[in-house]
Amino acid sequence: MNLVVKKFGGSSLASVEKIEQIADRLVEEQKKGERSLVVLSAMFGYTDSLIKMAHQIYPNYLGPAYDILLSSGEQISVALLSLALEKRAVKNKVLLAHQAGIQTSSFFSKAEIESIDTTKLENLLKEGYLPLVAGFQGITKDNQITTLGRGGSDLTAVALSASLKAEVCKIYTDVTGVFTADPRIYPSAIKIKELGFSEMMEMASLGSKVLQIRCVELASKSKVNIQVLHSSKKEEGTWIINKKETGMEGSVVSAIAHDLNTLVIKLTNTSSEIEFHSKLFSALGRESVFIDMISQSTHKEKSSLSFSIPHTDLTQTLKVLKDFVKEEDISIIDQAVKISVVGVGMAQHCGVAGRFFSALSQVKTQIYLLTTSEIKISAIIPEKNLKETVRVLHKEFFNF
Ligand code: ADP
Ligand code: ASP
Ligand code: MG
Repeated sequence: MNLVVKKFGGSSLASVEKIEQIADRLVEEQKKGERSLVVLSAMFGYTDSLIKMAHQIYPNYLGPAYDILLSSGEQISVALLSLALEKRAVKNKVLLAHQAGIQTSSFFSKAEIESIDTTKLENLLKEGYLPLVAGFQGITKDNQITTLGRGGSDLTAVALSASLKAEVCKIYTDVTGVFTADPRIYPSAIKIKELGFSEMMEMASLGSKVLQIRCVELASKSKVNIQVLHSSKKEEGTWIINKKETGMEGSVVSAIAHDLNTLVIKLTNTSSEIEFHSKLFSALGRESVFIDMISQSTHKEKSSLSFSIPHTDLTQTLKVLKDFVKEEDISIIDQAVKISVVGVGMAQHCGVAGRFFSALSQVKTQIYLLTTSEIKISAIIPEKNLKETVRVLHKEFFNF
């Protein structure tokens, strides 16, 4: 019988009542003869509050203790769902990552899954148990607990789907699928029926956090079909599958993505010598700072250099900059958002950039940084212009 892996996200686990609703749903589906394995995230907001506490004690600490702390949220969720299933007389078994055989690298807080020993899970499934696996966590060869990066339960679900050759990996969340823009920012956005892996990967990397990027990469590599669904509304959802990507019918752009986890650093009076850039960006690289966009302008031998980074990398960035520029030459723009239009259809069409800028000109927004590729255009703009910019771009590319 085919296996379905079902992952429920934090928003679907916001209360005990919601956990009981998931239990009811699982009972119903089991009665229909579905054989499943469940992966859970932590309850809504739980991981954030753990991170806050950790930072109160030791800002920016990353290491074994941090991962032990963060992984605890998922342990609570699986235990509570197990209680709800016990009450409903469903044969189930809770498995933390080490019990589910999920072995990772020892890169704490961003560990990579190296292998999954599915023997135990397969035996449980054969014996008719419903396995409940704690998402987001792993174990190193030397038995240290790790976590897989924010949103990492999606990765657990896809990795288990690949290893157990599941028919589909269902990601249950608080929206009914993947939309042409974040429905919380633009409620008129349209649900997309099907997306290819590369388009979804591009959207995820540009901030559409409905799926974690690494899970889409793995799904693409191991050909796992994903369905994104609402955890309580029974609607069809969106399929992420291996398909010939030509863009949605008639539209050049498939979606508008935004990312609030971005800030711009502007350095003035910098050297325009390439050696300066080489040393600066190498030093930032050594501190694991993720650099997204870079732009430089030179005027009469004076240069200024801007680049964008995630908010979370600011402390390390400032530490590095101390050795390269004077404090008064550094400005930080933290109320910023990266907004992007994404679509494989863009590769075959001219004029997308013109349409992008003419839409942005209606908002009269400032643009801090810009970048383009064959299938996307991104601009970093002031955060206050986010909603209006999504609206005009949606109107431009989807006609409403
Ligand atoms: P979960 O807790 O289930 O993992 P997430 O918060 O990680 O849920 O992802 C769901 C959220 O993704 C939605 O609430 C929505 O605001 C956001 N989102 C961003 N872009 C999109 C998009 N294009 N389509 C659907 N949801 C999106
Ligand atoms: N609980 C973790 C997080 O908040 C993992 C997840 O939700 O997928 O990032
Ligand atoms: Mg998520």
